[in-house]
Amino acid sequence: MLEVQGLVKEYKEYRAVNEVSFRINPGEIVGLIGPNGAGKTTAMRCMAGILRATSGRVLINGFEINEDQAKAKRGLAFVPEVPSLYELLTVYEHMRFIAMCFDTLPIFEAKHEELLTRYHLLDKRNDLVATLSKGMRQKLSVACALVHEANVFLLDEPLIGIDPAGAHELKQEIVRTKESGAAVLVSTHLLDTAEKLCDRVLIMARGRLLAEGSVEELREHYGMAGQSLEDVFLSLTNEVS
Ligand code: ATP
Repeated sequence: MLEVQGLVKEYKEYRAVNEVSFRINPGEIVGLIGPNGAGKTTAMRCMAGILRATSGRVLINGFEINEDQAKAKRGLAFVPEVPSLYELLTVYEHMRFIAMCFDTLPIFEAKHEELLTRYHLLDKRNDLVATLSKGMRQKLSVACALVHEANVFLLDEPLIGIDPAGAHELKQEIVRTKESGAAVLVSTHLLDTAEKLCDRVLIMARGRLLAEGSVEELREHYGMAGQSLEDVFLSLTNEVS
């Protein structure tokens, strides 16, 4: 379970994330959507423990990300917007290294062939990460997130740069991950995808959480029956820009 309580992140005097609170339960996919600069990546980096929040708390399975880092991170998989990979390892070595860091080599042994096949990386297994294309790097980043026993997934624009077959596979993977009981937060600008994939969405703008709920609940709440998530999003975010 992921719980975010009053999260604030300031860059000098600029408040990029402003009192954001929400919870994601096991078995839920939640979409994080918002215009450019809304604070989505900053919030996710705070949740992943990469940035230290100015204030607020982030609990991963009950463990606070900064106070109890090792325990919190054991349950966490973070796929950043721009994959940060070890360039001089091969694809195989990279996945194995991540599994070693999380002490989950048996999972790696059992799953890596299947993951490499599923993400069309099998013929690249002995190639250096530095030689991979953008989309392949993204796929490797996702595959690495699946070789440890995470049950909280933070995916920052995971579909950007992936080809249609890879994107289709990744969406199915996200659903499988949810069905296995994980809590998944996925940021995206693809509102059609968010509408189909997510159980709920969080709409952020200018650092604040503007709205939260299933698409059906948002339509009802804002009197926009029959309209798409895109319509609801544009109507809400236009008011604050
Ligand atoms: P996008 O959809 O464009 O990826 P986002 O919602 O992920 O946007 P962030 O990257 O979190 O937005 O940025 C939120 C705000 O914080 C922006 O105004 C951005 O310029 C600012 N910001 C981000 N990183 C820094 C930094 N390191 N120093 C100062 N300001 C920053």
